[in-house]
Amino acid sequence: MPATATYQLLDGRACSDALKQRIAQEAAEVLAKRGRAPHLAAVLVGDDGASRTYVEAKVKACEAVGFRSSLIRLPASTTQQELIKQVQALNADADLDGFIVQLPLPDHLDADAVTLAIDPAKDVDGFHPVSLGNMVLGHDGFLPATPSGIVELLRHYGIATNGKHCVVVGRSNIVGTPMSILMSRNSDPGNCTVTLAHSRTRDLAAVTREADILIVAAGKPGLIGAAMVKQGAVVVDVGIHRVDDPSRKSGFRLLGDVRFEEVAPKCAWITPVPGGVGPMTIASLLLNTLKAASDVTRKLVN
Ligand code: NDP
Repeated sequence: MPATATYQLLDGRACSDALKQRIAQEAAEVLAKRGRAPHLAAVLVGDDGASRTYVEAKVKACEAVGFRSSLIRLPASTTQQELIKQVQALNADADLDGFIVQLPLPDHLDADAVTLAIDPAKDVDGFHPVSLGNMVLGHDGFLPATPSGIVELLRHYGIATNGKHCVVVGRSNIVGTPMSILMSRNSDPGNCTVTLAHSRTRDLAAVTREADILIVAAGKPGLIGAAMVKQGAVVVDVGIHRVDDPSRKSGFRLLGDVRFEEVAPKCAWITPVPGGVGPMTIASLLLNTLKAASDVTRKLVN
């Protein structure tokens, strides 16, 4: 007999819908105060299918909460100089509250240099060193969208984090590393004892089995199986992978870094893929844009 599943879903769609309702109300207040809605721009270089899907989802989400949005499409042949010029134009655009440059960029472009060129006041992705520094120091600023979306998800479902052992798998600058910092901060959610695992970690399974809260951002489909998870753990799967599936109209389906079917029955809580972390990332981007617009409003009002 299969084990009875007792896990609960950390439903990113439901949580982000609730957040978006609040954002829409505040966007209406910003519009009333300053006569223009929060405005987000997204720059997409080239025509990578997954990046296009993500950017279009962000633009659609803006419309749903009453923001203005602008999508700037540049050809894959765009030079570094042309892209930096575009970033500088957006920095100077007083009509714009924040913008993102969708990553990854084509290989010939230097993403770090592009991020550095973004005005930190408009850095709603939270990737600029000033934003990351503010996060580490616990100062007010833009938090990176995916890790802060995960924190919001844990808060929404009342997941206890205080004193828990959180294992983060993956140490990228945009997900794993900031995630480890947010979970170890003196705040709620936070106050975890954090272990940051990566590709050089010895005996990953022994490390992940110690986790009360396991957050996986390794970019490796199905990396985490049931034997790597403690009974009753909270599991957050950041990975998104398109795999071919001719039986679907789209021709593909999405998988995470966690083997959901076998891991879920051991969990207290787990995110689905899709419908877990992805919608929260978008909601966080909207929150950052609202913050950028509200900070401007405060400056105008005070
Ligand atoms: P990166 O490729 O930049 O980083 C992956 C990290 O995982 C690295 O630190 C790497 O270690 C570590 N890693 C790789 N393989 C292993 C392994 N076998 N064991 C332990 N650690 C390993 O990925 P990102 O952080 O950008 O993204 C991770 C995943 O999350 C991707 O699938 C991505 O598509 C997805 N994603 C989803 C988002 C969403 O909104 N849902 C948003 C952003 C990303 P090392 O440093 O040693 O190389």
